[in-house]
Order: sequence, then structure tokens, then C-alpha cells
Amino acid sequence: MSFQELQVHQNMINALKELGIIEPTLIQTKAIPLIKSGKDLIGISKTGSGKTAAFGIPILEKINPGLGLQVLMMAPTRELAYQISGELSKFSKYMPCRIATIFGGVSLIPQIEQIKKAHIVVGTPGRLRDHLDRGNLNLSKLTCLVLDEADKMVEMGFIEDIEDILRHTPKQRQMLLFGATISREIDHIKQRYMHDSVIAEAEAQVQKELLQQFYYSVKPHEKFSLLVHLLKKEPTSRVIVFCSKRSTVEMVSKNLRSQGIKSEIIHGKLSQNKRLHVIDSFNHGKLDFLVASAVAARGIHVDDVSHVFNYDLSQDPQEYIHRIGRTARAGSSGKAITLLEQRDHGIFAEILDRYKVDVQEMPQENFQRLQFQANNFRSRDTHQRFHGPRRNSYQRSDRRESNSNDGSYSQPRSNGRSREMSRTSRDYTQRRY
Ligand code: ADP
Ligand code: MG
Repeated sequence: MSFQELQVHQNMINALKELGIIEPTLIQTKAIPLIKSGKDLIGISKTGSGKTAAFGIPILEKINPGLGLQVLMMAPTRELAYQISGELSKFSKYMPCRIATIFGGVSLIPQIEQIKKAHIVVGTPGRLRDHLDRGNLNLSKLTCLVLDEADKMVEMGFIEDIEDILRHTPKQRQMLLFGATISREIDHIKQRYMHDSVIAEAEAQVQKELLQQFYYSVKPHEKFSLLVHLLKKEPTSRVIVFCSKRSTVEMVSKNLRSQGIKSEIIHGKLSQNKRLHVIDSFNHGKLDFLVASAVAARGIHVDDVSHVFNYDLSQDPQEYIHRIGRTARAGSSGKAITLLEQRDHGIFAEILDRYKVDVQEMPQENFQRLQFQANNFRSRDTHQRFHGPRRNSYQRSDRRESNSNDGSYSQPRSNGRSREMSRTSRDYTQRRY
């Protein structure tokens, strides 16, 4: 199926061609005709499969330049909102269409001006609601509404904002809901606000032969050393190391730097400018190692990532799928490597069970034990994960001293440990295969 066959306008096809978008992806082939026909739609396909264009193309074609604000799109993060509007403006290069991008953390005033002129508003739910409450946003003429990464928005607690916004839209507007996964929590929105919705679903487009997934079983206090060992051993080009907490992102990056591995961080508390700058450096090859929290990296477009490391796992099984979707995109191959602590086995089993992914266990590695500097003991938990129980803090310095005497700390552990590890792994393998 081609864009011509999908009856996409020639102007749009030309703009797409300039972006290297020649053939529609599966989700685009499925969703575009349904959206054109006016149906309410739930679109499900994995990260990187071209969902933005799947809803963006048919929506842009319906825009009537004389009718003011017609479409509202919501996304969970500032980066995503920014990215969607960026893509849409490129697609609509040869069409008259004005797009406003609305997110928090910046001044309201310039946004009011943008909204006044816009045919499409793309934004995060919190700030959109703020504008709505202040009377800056009139949704009464809306013909279409999009929730991108709908699951994530619900999970991030935006449901009230979203529902409040939905109540201000006309009853007869078209509603589109997109995501890599659509959970049960979404049912409520579907029941309440969508009319006879249809589902467009595309099988995972990561080609199995291109994405290899591995895991290592590792003790919490040895994770950092194993990570450095693997980063040095693996022929990596561009790497994202995912951590589930901001404090871990900061500490891992800091320690990588002290091992001579130049990395930058990206997490939700960084300023918008800083985040965009980091992503830009990464995309332009000025930076090879990115340590990221999953939410911050959500949906961000990065090319040619050779390795994704899960330094730890999120409690949310979907997050694993989102993270590994950062690599093996567009025909390139990639590796996803997970460092698995004892306590992660439950959630990992759930991931494997739910998504039927094929993850190979890797044998134990011999690696040098490195010092991990945790500068800010924000929580007891963080402290314990890296250094063992807090009561050990004296023991730690003792141990370090004795290490310098016998050197045992930097040696691989004895066989007792290997036996213990292999038992864990075997149990696990049995559950899995
Ligand atoms: P998703 O929202 O599903 O995670 P995106 O919409 O962000 O994916 O698209 C990922 C990347 O793929 C973007 O850089 C986009 O420009 C590109 N892309 C989208 N559609 C196509 C296509 N049909 N052919 C080639 N590249 C595409
Ligand atoms: Mg997307």
C-alpha cells in the first residue's frame, strides 16, 4: 500500500518524501483510512512505528484554514508535545496550517498568542487545563481530539485534567487514542467519551532478528561495575542507559564520568532547554552515552542507538517495551541488555509473560569491582541498594581497607557465589521457557 493508494494529498506526499517517508508503515496503512472516514479510533503500535504520522497525516488534510482551532492533541511530556508539533509542521510544509505547542514550565503569555492563531494545539494536559480555566482556550469548535501515549498520561495522573478538558469539547468531535499499549484504565475514557470506536493495531515492528535481548543476573552493589565492564567490552556506538529514578540517573552518570565514560543525563527535572540540548548532542553524534529516566526519554526520537541498557527495571512492564524500542529502529540492529537484581525477577517474569519477548540469559562475567560514589543519600533505599544495609557504613570503610591489603575486593568472587547465581537463573529459566 502506498500513500497515493491511501489517497493522501500530493502536497503532503511531497513533504513526506523530503523527510524520507516514502512507504507508509503498517499502523499508518491501517489508521489513515479509518481516521479519514471520521471514525473514533484506538491505534496501537510500538514506539518508533510512526504513530505521529498515522494520525497527523489525515488530521492535517482535514484542516480548514478559515475555521480557527479545530484539533487538540494531548501528550504526556513537554518533549513529546514539542516533537509532535515539529513533525506536523514538517508534514504540512506545503499546506496552510498553524500549530501551537503548549506545555508547562514556561510563561503563559506567549502561548495565549499562539493559541489564538492556531488550527491545531498540541500540549500537555496540565498546562492545557490551566489555559482552559483562564479562558484562553476555546474548544467549542473542535472537530478532532487526539490522546497520544494515552496510557502514559493516565499513569502519570493526568486523568482528571484530561476528563476536564474532554468535557469542554463538543459531543460530536472525532476522538483518537494512540499508544504502544492500551490498558484497562483507558476503558473508562473509551466508554465515556468515544463513539463506536474501532481499533487499529500493528504487530510489533521491531524485527526480531535485528533486536537481540539479553539479561545478566547481578547483585545490586555490583551493577555499576558490571555496567562499566560491559560498556567497555561491547562494541557500542551510541548507548542509552535507563534508570527508573532520577537520583540513580544522576549517580550513574557521575560515576561513569569518573570512569572516563563521558555521559550526559536526561530526566524530568531538567529544564526544557537542557533536555533538548542533550538530545540534540546525542543525535548529532557529539555524545555517545546517555543516562536517562524512562519518562524523560519517552517517545523521543533518537537514531542509531546500538545498545539500550536497563540499569534497573521499572515497576511497569510496558516500560520495558518502550525502552527497548529506542534501539533496532528503521532497519538497524541493536541490543537490549538488562541488569537483573534478585528483586526484579518478579516484574521481569511478568514482562516476558505479557509481551512474549525472547531474552537470553548471559553467563556470569569476570569484572573488576569499582567504587561507586553515591554522593547524596536521598533515601535509605538508594543507600542500601548500592552499599548494603546502612549499619554497614563502618564495615564498608573497614572492608575497603582490608581490600587494599589483600586485594580481594577487586577480584571476582568465589565459587559459592556462582552456585548461588546459577541456581537463581535456573529457577528463572524454568519459569520463563
Ligand atoms: P511512534 O509515535 O510510533 O513512536 P514516531 O511517529 O515518533 O513513532 O515515528 C518515529 C520516526 O519514524 C520519526 O522520525 C518519523 O519521522 C519516522 N517515520 C514515520 N513514518 C515513517 C515512514 N512511513 N517511513 C519512514 N519513516 C517514518
Ligand atoms: Mg509517538
